[in-house]
Amino acid sequence: MYSPGFAVHITLDITKHTIPMPSSLKAAFTDYIVGWLVTTAAAIVTFIVTWAFPDAWLRMSTFVLANVEPKVLLVLFICTAMILLVVIAFFLPYLTAEKKKLLGGIYWDKEKNPHCPSCKTPVSNYGEFNFGDWGYLCNVCKSVFNLADASGNPIKPEDARRML
Ligand SMILES: [Zn+2]
Repeated sequence: MYSPGFAVHITLDITKHTIPMPSSLKAAFTDYIVGWLVTTAAAIVTFIVTWAFPDAWLRMSTFVLANVEPKVLLVLFICTAMILLVVIAFFLPYLTAEKKKLLGGIYWDKEKNPHCPSCKTPVSNYGEFNFGDWGYLCNVCKSVFNLADASGNPIKPEDARRML
């Protein structure tokens, strides 16, 4: 059908050129691409079978209806619907989640609010901690996250907001 290795390779290649994503989101994205490839492959197979054998689906459904109990069909249908609901429920948070930009070691949302780079909780307590460590204090992680440029030089929140 499809090669998972090939799909993963393509996915990693795409994500390399976008903003850094947490590993859980990256995994969800990989799953999404693999799912998309499987769906496309299934659609192509369906098209070819329909094109080559126009009455294949009619014969198949007649065969299934004649040989499989309606109760079994109903159970299969309910199982499929439930699996589909679970899959949708699993992916919905990823699809609706707001994307945050990483700048200076801190995540920033669309309104330029700072968020903890570890747990994504909003942080507002900026100041000097641990003798000369300027950064944001996350109340959840109990850690200070420095706000610095790519060279490690400290930058002020105003500078970071201007760069966003
Ligand atoms: Zn945190």
